[in-house]
Amino acid sequence: MQIGFIGLGNMGAPMAANLAKAGHQVLGFDTAGVAVDGVTQAGTATEAVASADAVITMLPNGAILRAVADQIIPAMAKGAVLIDCSTVDVDSARAVAEQASGAGPLFVDAPVSGGVGGAAGGTLTFMAGGSDDAFAKAAPLFDIMGQKAVHCGEAGAGQAAKICNNMILGVTMIATCEAFALADKLGLDRQKMFDVVSTSSGYSWTMNAYCPAPGVGPQSPADNDYTPGFAAELMLKDLRLSQQAASSADADTPMGQAATALYEQFVENEDGLGRDFSAMLPRFEKRGRS
Ligand code: NAD
Repeated sequence: MQIGFIGLGNMGAPMAANLAKAGHQVLGFDTAGVAVDGVTQAGTATEAVASADAVITMLPNGAILRAVADQIIPAMAKGAVLIDCSTVDVDSARAVAEQASGAGPLFVDAPVSGGVGGAAGGTLTFMAGGSDDAFAKAAPLFDIMGQKAVHCGEAGAGQAAKICNNMILGVTMIATCEAFALADKLGLDRQKMFDVVSTSSGYSWTMNAYCPAPGVGPQSPADNDYTPGFAAELMLKDLRLSQQAASSADADTPMGQAATALYEQFVENEDGLGRDFSAMLPRFEKRGRS
């Protein structure tokens, strides 16, 4: 397949490299002029997509996606598929889907879970929204870049699934961290806390797989001085998207709202910027009740 790849950052570069390694012709474009093994650099976004059967975008946010879509959709062949793997707001995903349906290309919103490690290892999970035809056309590429792809529904459903998942993640990380800080103050050993909770009804991915307490549970960013992993500011971005979606859908999400406010405080007014999102634990450790 001829593939256009727009946005060769921390995630996009390894994803594009995996497609090239699998034998596809990949023409990449990034405004920062990034070079990626096996990927030919295009001079413009439109050049990258003009003769592509599939185009993948991996961009920072919805505004940038919309601007790039304005450029590339008119240049794409009818029947080609545009796969947006960025995490963006549901409204932007639906707007780009609408624009594509008027112009010719198929569209799938397909945000990912699995982070930079998953992108490099080809083990991402894709949550996709779009027509059956669009999903079928994108599926062989999901197989190369990931280990699982779930077709969640019509356009926007992939972003909806991603935002809901990450709202649970943010809320759960905070709950896990505040429980560890409370356990400390109650004199409970952290290893004992892990041994109990990880096999009791309080278990979660944040406790069992990504434990925020250093030296406890499997290796995690906590064991590396909270070097991200998944940065607190990216968690904040996703929580804000959840709250934007909740407002636009008139959904009551008090825990999501509280988690958004806490990560906002942590990133913007405290020392959260550039630290892993599990560094909420040392934040709680330092604080008292008031
Ligand atoms: P990144 O900032 O490393 O990469 C984004 C790239 O897009 C940059 O290289 C930038 O130069 C390029 N870019 C910006 N504007 C452009 C334009 N107009 N045309 C072409 N290129 C442009 O970000 P990332 O970590 O690779 O994340 C990309 C997306 O994936 C984001 O939406 C993020 O939320 C999502 N995501 C990231 C992770 C993660 O762990 N990093 C995990 C899951 C999802």
